[in-house]
Amino acid sequence: MCSDPKTLCSILPHHSPLTVTVANNAILRSTSHGTCQIDADHGVIDIAPVSHVPGLSRNLISIGQATSDGLEFRFKKDSCQILDDHGRLISEIMKDTNNLYQLPSKVSTSTEKHSTTANMSSVDTHRLWHNRLGHINDRDLKASLQNTINCNWSTRASQDGSPCHGCMLGKMPRGDISRSSSSSTTRPLEIIHSDIAGPFPTEGLHGRARYYISFLDQHTRYSSVYFLQKKSDALSAIKRFINMANNLFSDQGFSVKILQTDNGGEYTSEACQTFLTALGIVHRTIIPYQSEQNGMIERLNRTILD
Ligand SMILES: [Zn+2]
Repeated sequence: MCSDPKTLCSILPHHSPLTVTVANNAILRSTSHGTCQIDADHGVIDIAPVSHVPGLSRNLISIGQATSDGLEFRFKKDSCQILDDHGRLISEIMKDTNNLYQLPSKVSTSTEKHSTTANMSSVDTHRLWHNRLGHINDRDLKASLQNTINCNWSTRASQDGSPCHGCMLGKMPRGDISRSSSSSTTRPLEIIHSDIAGPFPTEGLHGRARYYISFLDQHTRYSSVYFLQKKSDALSAIKRFINMANNLFSDQGFSVKILQTDNGGEYTSEACQTFLTALGIVHRTIIPYQSEQNGMIERLNRTILD
């Protein structure tokens, strides 16, 4: 509940007015509610619905409502930690001398919100939308938002010199991955590149996959991805892809000649080698821990993961 409507955005009327009895038994009336955004130390806390109660002497937050919305509160001797629904710390507030936990009310007021909208060049705003849109790159972020939000993209956030920590961890390539391959091909299926990625911390929606195996034809750049529940499912995916590729190109007389991979056990296993040998396919491996040699498929994987 709050008394100042400027602290709210997206204000809507209540279906029926609320009455609130305060400490001196006075009865206050609320006719509308909205969303309050609090700029905390490590993020923005969205609190909704917040009733607008004119005459209220203090803004009050309902812990019950907030926990229903996914926030977690950890009360300690001298402080209270507020965590989001992923357990990430958003803010830690100290208990004051009256035994009250006071949110450091860096509330985004309507005026501030308007000025934020008008000056979307701020580092925080850029980073916020970058995070909200799944760590999207700057070009696509601009394309996504420039028609909806009035912002000055010429001074975008990355100019503050601090790259996104998540992107640094997740997208940092190990070395320069060469675009050109060491050998060239003259026809489809001459060289097929393959690699396995995973395990990923979260299971896929379909088939609870935690790995995937990718295949890329060096000549046509045709690529194919199969999701795997276990790494040991790789062999059946290799068989499926090669049989499918050979079948598709059998009319033209093309079939897979070379399978280029790293030294992964799924490729070097006896069962896989037997399958490849039976089809006359040469298995070419790259030097361990030199994934740059497998550049083409590594770049495909990075594109898929990004
Ligand atoms: Zn990022």
